[in-house]
Amino acid sequence: MRLDTKAMRYLTPEDWRTLTAVETGSKNHEVVPTALIGQISGLRGGVHKSISALAKVGLIARLKNAKYDGYRLTYGGLDYLSLNTYRKRKDVYSVGNQIGVGKESDIFVVADDKGVQRVLKIHRLGRISFRTVKANRDYLRHRSSGSWMYMSRLAALKEYTFMAALRENGFPVPEPLAQSRHTIVMSLIDAFPMRQISSVPDPASLYAELISMILRLAQYGLIHGDFNEFNILIKEDPNPESNKPEDIILTPILIDFPQMVSIDHVNAEYYFDRDVNCIKRFFERRFRYTSDAKGPHYRDARKLIGKDGVKRLDVSVEASGFSKKMAKELEAYMKEVGVDGDGDPHAARGDEDSDEDEDEDEDDDEQQPDGPEDLAEDTEAASKNMGNGSVIVDE
Ligand code: ADP
Ligand code: MG
Repeated sequence: MRLDTKAMRYLTPEDWRTLTAVETGSKNHEVVPTALIGQISGLRGGVHKSISALAKVGLIARLKNAKYDGYRLTYGGLDYLSLNTYRKRKDVYSVGNQIGVGKESDIFVVADDKGVQRVLKIHRLGRISFRTVKANRDYLRHRSSGSWMYMSRLAALKEYTFMAALRENGFPVPEPLAQSRHTIVMSLIDAFPMRQISSVPDPASLYAELISMILRLAQYGLIHGDFNEFNILIKEDPNPESNKPEDIILTPILIDFPQMVSIDHVNAEYYFDRDVNCIKRFFERRFRYTSDAKGPHYRDARKLIGKDGVKRLDVSVEASGFSKKMAKELEAYMKEVGVDGDGDPHAARGDEDSDEDEDEDEDDDEQQPDGPEDLAEDTEAASKNMGNGSVIVDE
């Protein structure tokens, strides 16, 4: 899904208040009645002008309920709300190119006001489920209102919480910088996923490093759950002890945490083995490398839990904002729609064609023509990954 920030600069303070009111109303209403939007926004002059401005650019969509007409927030509207939060907190100044499209997320390069590049990950749970996994429709329909929004928030919160805990304990992961709604901002890793690497000088040592990362996670009570060549970025740095340019040091960086599980999870052994086997299989196929050592096995990993007096992160994250209840809800959802890491991360997501759920209002796809408002060319931030990045700060 695109992230078109162009309309941000045209929204008035009243429009933002109205958009926020629709978000607030969504907590209890699948379709937020127009009158309620007016009430929550507290805008004395009325909200109709703002409502039509927001609907026109697709941030809210008009829906007819059996009893009343109203609006709901679209993914675009939720994107804008979180970008606006980042803009106010000075976490994000401009948005650049999309660098990743996962099954349930979109990844963009963004920059702060000093032009330092960062990564914005937008969780988009629900889009495959609603469109392609028909069997789940009922289950999802009967969930609380706006379940896609709630689930995407949970995924972002979980990812942020785990990334922070891992980073604090010295794991090679991006630095988590900010979180809002269904999105997170993290440091940009200047590296390619292992999937894109055709050969490495010493597969045995990279393999050993990855297996020891899996075991170190176990020591802290965790299983990544999607430990594969897409979720390991390989940083290449020159070896300071060598003057040959081909002498590089490879450092694996682990990303993508919404599916992490505790080592005490009922299916822990399955997830653990799957993580190990993903790496084994990839090294065999890609680098023609097979380790002499069997395993590691789940039972061996369990012996490492808490070794050297380390803290169990599966336990401590519960205290730091991602509760057991949230974990259960997210897991039930992910299992239901088959996105617990088992699938091909590049499988069709089904959001490519026009969306019956999304565009009930009308096809107001026509955007304002590209005008001089696109400030990207003038900013220092518009460097390699920023492409035709557009600045979201306009005040
Ligand atoms: P998904 O849940 O959709 O698989 P990921 O977090 O794995 O999302 O990110 C998808 C892709 O985006 C990665 O394979 C990687 O290429 C890129 N990516 C994600 N985070 C970063 C980051 N912090 N730095 C650089 N690239 C990243
Ligand atoms: Mg991934």
